[in-house]
Amino acid sequence: MTSLEKNLAKAETYLARFRAEGVLNHINGASIPAQSGEVFEILSPVDGKVLAHVAKGDAADIDAAARAAAAAFPAWRDLSGVERRKILNDVADAIVERAEEIAFVEAMDTGQSIRFMGKAALRGAANFRFFADKAPEARDGQTIYAPGQINMTSRRPIGPIGVITPWNTPFMLSTWKIAPALASGCTVVHKPAEFSPMTAKLLVEIAESAGLPKGVWNVVNGLGEGAGKALTEHPDIKALALVGEGRTGSMIMKQAADTLKRVHFELGGKNPVIVFEDADIERAVDAAVFMIYSLNGERCTSSSRVLIQDSIYEEFTKRVAEKADAIKVGHPLDPETVVGPLIHPIHEKKVLSYFDIAKEDGATIAAGGVKVGDEGCYVRPTLFTNATNDMRIAQEEIFGPVLTAIPFKDKEEALAIANDTEYGLAAYIWTKDLTRALWMTDRLEAGMMWVNSENVRHLPTPFGGVKNSGIGRDGGDWSFDFYMETHNVCLATGDHHIPKLGG
Ligand code: NAD
Repeated sequence: MTSLEKNLAKAETYLARFRAEGVLNHINGASIPAQSGEVFEILSPVDGKVLAHVAKGDAADIDAAARAAAAAFPAWRDLSGVERRKILNDVADAIVERAEEIAFVEAMDTGQSIRFMGKAALRGAANFRFFADKAPEARDGQTIYAPGQINMTSRRPIGPIGVITPWNTPFMLSTWKIAPALASGCTVVHKPAEFSPMTAKLLVEIAESAGLPKGVWNVVNGLGEGAGKALTEHPDIKALALVGEGRTGSMIMKQAADTLKRVHFELGGKNPVIVFEDADIERAVDAAVFMIYSLNGERCTSSSRVLIQDSIYEEFTKRVAEKADAIKVGHPLDPETVVGPLIHPIHEKKVLSYFDIAKEDGATIAAGGVKVGDEGCYVRPTLFTNATNDMRIAQEEIFGPVLTAIPFKDKEEALAIANDTEYGLAAYIWTKDLTRALWMTDRLEAGMMWVNSENVRHLPTPFGGVKNSGIGRDGGDWSFDFYMETHNVCLATGDHHIPKLGG
C-alpha cells in the first residue's frame, strides 16, 4: 500500500460521518439540520464528485443561533478570566488530540496538501492557547490622572459576535477569530464558507467536548446571501468579523448599517515581494516561491507580485521558473504533494482565465500556465514574466499558485509599483541595506511588512491590512479592542467647585 492509499483509507474513516449525516448546524449544543430541511452539496476538489450534503441555514436558523448566543452570554461573560483560560487551554489540548482528523478532513474539503494542513491544525491550537493565556487580563484598563480627578478604564465583552469565514484554510482562520472572541467573554455565531464547511463543525464539537458551555459557540451553515446576510442583520449580534473578499466586506457594511454593528474585515491582497540586487538571492527565491506556491496560493498574504531589480531580473525569474517546474502537483493526501487541487471548479475557471489574460496583455508564461489532467481542479504553478504593473495579472487577486514578475530600476520605482494597487495587506522586502529597507517600510502602503523573511507570524503582533485589504487589526491585545467595549469611571479627588444653576 502506498502512503497515498493509506492516507485515503484513513480519510474515509474521518469523512464517513459527514457522508452519512451531512454537515449539520450546531445550535445550543445540538447538531441539527436546517429548519427548512434544505441542504446543498459540496464537491471534492480532487474529482468534482459530491463530498457531502450541508445544512442550508437561513434567517430562521440564524435567529435560533443568535438567541442561543445571547442567552449564553451573561454566564460566559461573568465567568472569571482564569476559568475561561482553563476551558480554552483544554480546547487547545483537544484540538491537538484530534489534529490528524482535522488535517485529513480539511485536506479533502479544501484540496490543500496534507503537509500544510497538519501544521494548520496545530496552529489552530496555538491560537487558542495564546488567547486563553490572555483571558485573565482582557478586562484590564488604565488609570488616567487629571487635576481633581482620577479616571479608571476597564473593558467588557461587547456581546454575541458574528464570525464569517472564507474557504481557504478555514480551520486555522476560524480559530484566529473565535479564540479571542471567547477569551474576551463574547459568545459566537459562526457562518463558515459554503465551499469548505466541514472542520467548523469538528471545531465546535471539539470545544464543547473540552468543556465549553452549550450556546457559547454556535455554527450555522448556508450561503452568503442567505445565512450570511441574516447574521449581519440580526439585532442580537453586536459585532461582525469577516475574513473574505472586499466586495463581501462592502455588502456587509451596508447590511449591518441598520443595526449599527461594529465591523472587522480581513480582505484580499496583491502583496509584493521586492528584491534588490544586493539581496541574498538564494533565500529570496525560496521565500518568493514558498509564499506563492504553498497553500495552493490560496492565501491572503501570498506574494502574488515579485518586483525584481532589473540587473538580477533574468537570473531571478529563471530560478523561480525552475523551482516552479519542479513542484509536485497532486492529490492533497499524497505526502509528496505541494500544490493540491484548487477549491472548486468555479474558482479553477477564474484562475485558468488569467492564463489567457496574461497572453492577451503581452506577458510571457515562463512556467506552468496549464491545467493538469481532466479530473479535479489541478493547475501547474505558474510564473508570468515581462509583466507591467498595469496588467490585470498585476492588479487583480488571482488567489491561486500564480506569480507575476515585474522589473524595477531603483527604490523609488519599486515603491511606486508596490503601492500602485487597491490592496495593502502585506509586503516583503529583500535587501542587505538596512537604510534602504527602512526607507521602504516607512513608505509602503501595507499593514504588515517583513524584511528578509517570508511571512512568519508572531501572535502578539498586529495582523491586518490598509486600503481595500481590511479594517481593524487582529493579534495580541488588538483582538480584544474589537471584541470589547472600553468603559471609563471618573473619580473626583477633592471638593471641586460645582457650578450652581437656578439660585
Ligand atoms: P468571500 O468574500 O466570497 O466569502 C467569505 C464569506 O463571506 C463566506 O462565508 C461567504 O458565504 C460570506 N458571504 C458572502 N456574501 C455575503 C453577504 N452578502 N453577507 C454575509 N456573508 C456573505 O471570500 P472567499 O472567496 O470565501 O475567500 C477568499 C477571499 O478571502 C480572498 O479575497 C482572500 O484574500 C480573503 N482572505 C483574507 C484574509 C486576510 O486575513 N486578510 C485571510 C484569508 C482570506
